[in-house]
Amino acid sequence: MNYLKFLLLLTSIACFSCDGRVKLYDKGAQFIAIQPFEEIDTNELNLAKTAIETFYGYDVTILEPIDLPKEFLSQSKKRYRSAKLLPHLRSKRPNEFDKIIGMTKADIASSSRKENNHPIIAKSDRSGPASVISSFRIRKNAKSKSEFEARLRKVVIHEVGHTLGLPHCTEDESCLMVDNGSSYKKLDGLKEQFCTKCSNKLGWKETNGQDTVMK
Ligand SMILES: [Zn+2]
Ligand SMILES: [Zn+2]
Repeated sequence: MNYLKFLLLLTSIACFSCDGRVKLYDKGAQFIAIQPFEEIDTNELNLAKTAIETFYGYDVTILEPIDLPKEFLSQSKKRYRSAKLLPHLRSKRPNEFDKIIGMTKADIASSSRKENNHPIIAKSDRSGPASVISSFRIRKNAKSKSEFEARLRKVVIHEVGHTLGLPHCTEDESCLMVDNGSSYKKLDGLKEQFCTKCSNKLGWKETNGQDTVMK
């Protein structure tokens, strides 16, 4: 091998490992928009953006805030109805984005007819473009900033998983797509990872991790 070829090979190996992590899956490309409802701290928005970027490797853009329509409030006037928020978000999605993730600090309620005003932290299209996430209850129940941030990151990753078509996982208790119900304890015990079955459902191709590690 001549010197130039050797140098090229070295450069390509270095590039593969430039983010310092072993790339286990090729997750394809998606363009994600985060849509804040009214003003939200930059930290909170960036936390969601970074969670999607690091977990999925997708391109994330934070849009300008929009109003939270008062007519979407439930009869008790305390919570915004997710059944109204999701179609609203779908209609607001700019064409260049595959998904639109609405974020709000306000309390939101379930869409089901039976429990019209049941408080929830998120609701997402299954295999559709929209998701709405409320930090209201995550913040209210967290004992510290780091607990709040870790939970919000996991909720965001989980909800984006639904928009990509994933149902709740019944295969692996350690998978982030399991149904947490309203158990923060269960959520806290989970890592930011999907099981092999969920990854396969998304059609993510396993890469040969060995190729990406510099020896
Ligand atoms: Zn879920
Ligand atoms: Zn799973």
